[in-house]
Amino acid sequence: MRVATVSNQGDAADDRNSYRFASSDNTLGRLVIDVCGISIGGPTLAVIGGPCGVESKEQVFAVARYITESGVGLFRAGAFKPRTNPYSFQGLGQEGIELLALVKREFNLGIVTEATDLESFPGVEKVADVVQIGARNMQNFALLRRAGISEKPILLKRGQGATLEEWLLAAEYILSEGNARVILCERGIRTWSNHARNTFDVSVIPAVKALSHLPVIADPSHAVGRKDLVIPCALAGVAAGADGILVETHCQPSSALSDGQQALLPNEFSMLVNQAFKIKNSLQLVDTNNGLCF
Ligand code: PEP
Ligand code: MN
Repeated sequence: MRVATVSNQGDAADDRNSYRFASSDNTLGRLVIDVCGISIGGPTLAVIGGPCGVESKEQVFAVARYITESGVGLFRAGAFKPRTNPYSFQGLGQEGIELLALVKREFNLGIVTEATDLESFPGVEKVADVVQIGARNMQNFALLRRAGISEKPILLKRGQGATLEEWLLAAEYILSEGNARVILCERGIRTWSNHARNTFDVSVIPAVKALSHLPVIADPSHAVGRKDLVIPCALAGVAAGADGILVETHCQPSSALSDGQQALLPNEFSMLVNQAFKIKNSLQLVDTNNGLCF
């Protein structure tokens, strides 16, 4: 087993074979997860787009329409929102889940949405094609174990201060319960830099892919929190070998109920999607010519 770092983190270091299911040592090749006909982890870039939160039927339908026109098949929006401030918009809850079911039916899009706790999990997994576990819940072990007995793929965000090893151990909680379909998502970590919401850790993408067979998605939106930095960081994530990108977009970012400052406008979103596919495709050329493995 290859060890990511010299660990000084208590029980993370206790068992050197501790992420046996998350490690690529015990599998043949990379994991490809099919979500509604879209492969995550294969040669084609997977794009997940949508607003931060479900706000209304009009809002989710408008976004679903233009992301579909951009050639994107996976729609993400939160019905249950984990917010730092208890007075901020907390999501529409079950009503939001029902709106996501309508989006799925109307646009034939795969749905990615978050379960924030054990109570919300069953309702979320009924409609979601991928259940998200957010950064703040990366070490909510009861929630991770619940995700481990779900039939749905799980998108596991990296915790705000988590090391690569802690992230893989969180994935291990899900995998060891029997759910083999885990997608890792880098969404930035807290550092001393204060020009952006978080620091987008681009190097963790190839680093985690060297250790694990699990697909890796880059979320530049939550990583930087400023829309002017989202496109460059999304493209950097793709260039670093991300299997996909998760990007927030909204028709009217200035009136969004959450994360409007990082939401791309429709035309910006479709521009990003085009560029991201071009970069991903050029990497495949590099693969073929040089035998490099992204
Ligand atoms: C989100 O995905 O909208 C979100 C709150 O993300 P994170 O858990 O990365 O902060
Ligand atoms: Mn958000």
